[in-house]
Amino acid sequence: MKTIFGSIAVCTITGLTCLFAGCGPSGGVKAAAQPTRVDASLIERCASLYLSPAGPQRIVVEVDSVEGCEPPQTALDELGEFLHRYTSKEVRYIRKPSIARSDAVGMPPEVLATRNARGAPADGNGASGSYLYLLFFEGESNRRFAAYVPFDYSCAIFVNMNALAIKEWGPAEALRYILKHEAGHVLGLCRNLSHGDGVHCRNACLMQERGLTISISKWLIGSDYKSKPPTDLCADCRQDLIRIKERQTPSGMEFKGPVLVRHEQQYTVYTLPCHYHINLGNTGLEWNEVLHVKVQSELDIGPGSVR
Ligand SMILES: [Zn+2]
Ligand SMILES: [Zn+2]
Repeated sequence: MKTIFGSIAVCTITGLTCLFAGCGPSGGVKAAAQPTRVDASLIERCASLYLSPAGPQRIVVEVDSVEGCEPPQTALDELGEFLHRYTSKEVRYIRKPSIARSDAVGMPPEVLATRNARGAPADGNGASGSYLYLLFFEGESNRRFAAYVPFDYSCAIFVNMNALAIKEWGPAEALRYILKHEAGHVLGLCRNLSHGDGVHCRNACLMQERGLTISISKWLIGSDYKSKPPTDLCADCRQDLIRIKERQTPSGMEFKGPVLVRHEQQYTVYTLPCHYHINLGNTGLEWNEVLHVKVQSELDIGPGSVR
């Protein structure tokens, strides 16, 4: 059996993010890192796990938060309603005890996620459903990007509760928008160039690039200086969800615990937020072996690390 192990260097993970501006690199990125483009079809293949009527009928959302970064339940409820409305699947939350701050400080969110994500438990029939992982932490306070979905592991949403927008709008109001917007990326939206740039939607839409904004000039003259985008999807984005939902090609993906498994003809890829494993020849690797990775200490502890 041939295997290839690797740690996805944090500097190569780019996210689908927006707040105050367009999508940018993820929280743990080195200043010099360049965003990388990945095959968009992989994101749609993962999205079809949530959307396809033939796929799992349940979405399990696992929520981890560092002490003091716990999200308001109202924002989670609104996310759950959004996911159910557009996937027609049952949404079930697993809210876990907070991660001690002493166990998180200095660690890139991707490493923290890999260490803590447990995955969806199997039901009585052995089916574990689709899986979405949420991590709330405090990174740099001046980060323009409050949240992102890693390209490589597009079944997770990482939220920096220390981002300026969340501080300014307040967690309850900001997360109502942020979580649904990022969930739109998880569901594979904005790849349609007829009404977007491949990352965001050009319409007045939840998925537009311009997110929660603050106008300094309006603030200076004492008028309402905050603006936010629509809180729901435009008709074009809704149509895109239907297209992904109706795709006939099997995704070739599945969840095993927190591991996103992608089966190809000659090999299988097992992905965690900061680690991947390629199994050549499909010789039956036990997926949970992938969990026993030693998270490499040389992973960049970048400016976006948990504080
Ligand atoms: Zn975005
Ligand atoms: Zn749209």
